[in-house]
Amino acid sequence: MEILAFGVQADEKPLLEKAFTGRHEVRCLDVFLGEDTAPIAAGYEIVSSSVNADLNGRVLHTLADGGTKMIAQRSTGFNNIDLDVARRLGLTVSRVSYYSPYSVAEFAWTLAMAVNRNIVRASNRTRDFDFRLNGLMGRDMRGRTVGVLGTGKIGEAFTRIAAGFGMNLLGWDVAENPACVELGMKYVDKEALFALSDLISLHVPLLDSTHHLIDAKALRTMKDDAILVNSSRGGLVDTEALVAELRAGRFAGVGLDVYEAESGLFFTDRSLGVVEDDTLARLMTFPNVVVTSHQAYYTHDAVGQIIDATVRNVADYLAGRHSENTLSPA
Ligand code: NAD
Repeated sequence: MEILAFGVQADEKPLLEKAFTGRHEVRCLDVFLGEDTAPIAAGYEIVSSSVNADLNGRVLHTLADGGTKMIAQRSTGFNNIDLDVARRLGLTVSRVSYYSPYSVAEFAWTLAMAVNRNIVRASNRTRDFDFRLNGLMGRDMRGRTVGVLGTGKIGEAFTRIAAGFGMNLLGWDVAENPACVELGMKYVDKEALFALSDLISLHVPLLDSTHHLIDAKALRTMKDDAILVNSSRGGLVDTEALVAELRAGRFAGVGLDVYEAESGLFFTDRSLGVVEDDTLARLMTFPNVVVTSHQAYYTHDAVGQIIDATVRNVADYLAGRHSENTLSPA
């Protein structure tokens, strides 16, 4: 059978083709699955989509009308898929419920330390043979307080690294993680976490209840010299409100791997065009902000695990089996 895979990065293509060798043919496209591209899938029983696909009701109807029966999503998060519609249409939808949480946790720390120690500015300076230190002063992490919102798999891995730095650990979650408690984490309400933390890192999923979890009020509760890192989902942060606080000169640093309007923008090359997104353009002007384009998961280890799980999800569908990765049917 030939599978159509959307949103495949150039690095990922040979890995995906190799993983399916001897089982199925896989046709890889770099475009994302969405309203404009869904008609390409006509005649393909199985399609695979990536993190920034837009699987709204209209897209799912187009796929079903074209004969698609199974969608293998190559990510953990599935806030981009209208599962009610998928179930009504009888589409099988799978995701990858587990892959290396260390990929994202280590990247969140990379962002935190890059803004704390002004690595981007320092590197730009030394490339210009400017070797002055003015403006590059950071802070020790040891003895400072980290607030972790969401202490699941990634939050726990992030917390272990924080414990290694010798930090005071604060957590906020609907359920306490015993492994984090054992590391010395104290669970507090989110207002206390915002007020007390020197570094705040987001690891909750994007849900209706977590949308704009970091709003103007939350930002105003944080310390003026706090560091904020978001490697979870862009919609957790009210970006306009963040820009307003940054304009007021607040925060030692902000590291963002995700952005609420990233869909259709991240993973594409816009370097030759006009910047249409004023909020993102303004965000890029702050020297204490580092933005990356949803690359936290992008390690050999995690991508390999995502691909292996996708191969298993396709095999499960063809054998009529369900697994912990099956989202539809429920
Ligand atoms: P997980 O399910 O193991 O952990 C999520 C935690 O959030 C759980 O402890 C859960 O109890 C908590 N939670 C859920 N709803 C909550 C709520 N309303 N209020 C407070 N806490 C709540 O998930 P994970 O594997 O640790 O992934 C976390 C998030 O990281 C994912 O949802 C995804 O958005 C993001 N992510 C980003 C990337 C990237 O490349 N940037 C890659 C993978 C995952």
